[in-house]
Amino acid sequence: MQAKPQLLGLPSYKPGKPIDEVKRELGLSKVIKLASNENPYGSSKKASEAIQSIAFDTAIYPDGYAATIREKIAAKIGVNENQLVFGNGSDEVIQFLCRAFLTPDTNTITADPTFSQYKLNATIEGAEVREVPSVDGVHDLEAMLEAIDENTRIIWVCNPNNPSGTYVNEDAFVDFLERVPEHVLVVSDEAYYEYVTANDYPETVPLLEKFDNLIILRTFSKAYGLAALRIGYGIANPQLISTLDPVRPPFNNTTFAHAAAVAALEDEGFIADCVEKNTKSLKQFEDFCDKYNLKYYPSQTNFILIDFKRSGDEVFNYLLKKGFIIRSGEALGFPTCARITVGTDEENKELFSVLEEMLTAHPVEQ
Ligand SMILES: *Cc1c(COP(=O)(O)O)cnc(C)c1O
Repeated sequence: MQAKPQLLGLPSYKPGKPIDEVKRELGLSKVIKLASNENPYGSSKKASEAIQSIAFDTAIYPDGYAATIREKIAAKIGVNENQLVFGNGSDEVIQFLCRAFLTPDTNTITADPTFSQYKLNATIEGAEVREVPSVDGVHDLEAMLEAIDENTRIIWVCNPNNPSGTYVNEDAFVDFLERVPEHVLVVSDEAYYEYVTANDYPETVPLLEKFDNLIILRTFSKAYGLAALRIGYGIANPQLISTLDPVRPPFNNTTFAHAAAVAALEDEGFIADCVEKNTKSLKQFEDFCDKYNLKYYPSQTNFILIDFKRSGDEVFNYLLKKGFIIRSGEALGFPTCARITVGTDEENKELFSVLEEMLTAHPVEQ
């Protein structure tokens, strides 16, 4: 047998450690997971009620057209129904894009560090991946533009960026779009869209009218708290959507994901409440960092990247023993940092006190 040569040596995705595994390994009764940017407040009650009400409807295939959720989202964001494509999480839309646009004689451009799935999927298609170093966690759009050539097919803007939490503002993004040649597709991955509070964050949906080479990715996995159900979507012009559609497996969302997403969209209060709490908590993280002389990356998301001026693995292991799962920056391109998901007030307070212990025993050098 012979698999594609580009698969040789490809790592599989390393998710945040599962809670049960950590409990078992370390004999802990309580473990708090702040590793995967999940919503610490769960999801809207309306979403779980919606699933419960159809819990036994398992024999029939889901609606492959996703009609109900499609109609709902189109109305909410003000686009036509033929401007949407649904994925099994927005991860799957990333996969569609790479399958549809990338071949071994093309290249794609990402920031570095950024979300790992762009590179992984592009590599599987055999495309060259041009990784352009970020400046202080922020995409260097000028350098990304310079990396474009006639073989470039996709350029990825993760906004806000995972793992840094930083963002590209509206002026910078529009200027960038105006300068990207028409043969290059621009992906604006907005997984944390709902959490953003910056006034100059780009509102990208209206930009679709002007830029045919733009696709926006959104998801129900983060603020909506439906990560377990796997549903995300892409928004673009109808022609681009119909290019992608044959790549999509016919029943790629479950009936439960559709029902929960529809119900979740009806509960705007839940999102507003989560965002308000997240914004307050982020401020507490920033204050904590200031107090202990730690550099952090200003975040527009529900996570924060903090420079502990020591190996990220060391921070990870210290916190793990105390019952907290976070992400070490080592595998994320920020070796002396840790990426921590903002938890509930109580979780954050417990985390701060453990971090305080660590920093008191081993202070940051001035
Ligand atoms: C979490 C995340 C995604 C993927 O989310 P899905 O669960 O697949 O919808 C996509 N992009 C970024 C930047 C993310 O952080």
